[in-house]
Amino acid sequence: MTSDLSTPAVHEDGPESGAVLDGNAAAGEFAGILASDPTTVTVRCGSCGATQAFGQLQAYLGGPGTVLRCRECEAMVARVARTPQGTWLNISGSSSWLFPPTPGPA
Ligand SMILES: [Zn+2]
Repeated sequence: MTSDLSTPAVHEDGPESGAVLDGNAAAGEFAGILASDPTTVTVRCGSCGATQAFGQLQAYLGGPGTVLRCRECEAMVARVARTPQGTWLNISGSSSWLFPPTPGPA
């Protein structure tokens, strides 16, 4: 596997520093990437299939990036990492993200 860009060195199964918070604590990081308010999104875990609101995910801040973990199985479902190269969004641990319908033109 080759890549011109190296992903941030994060131990995905290791402990992150800082306290465990809920997904709302990570909403700011995702709000700058997603077109929708992240707190309105429903995320399905790619490991156990549990569906949970963004705000119900476990958030780990303060490490090399912002990590969201499934509250059921603690698998990493999403990570945002800001580097000099840009912002990495890794959602490989989730199977789907449900965005609510957007209001049509008035
Ligand atoms: Zn899970």
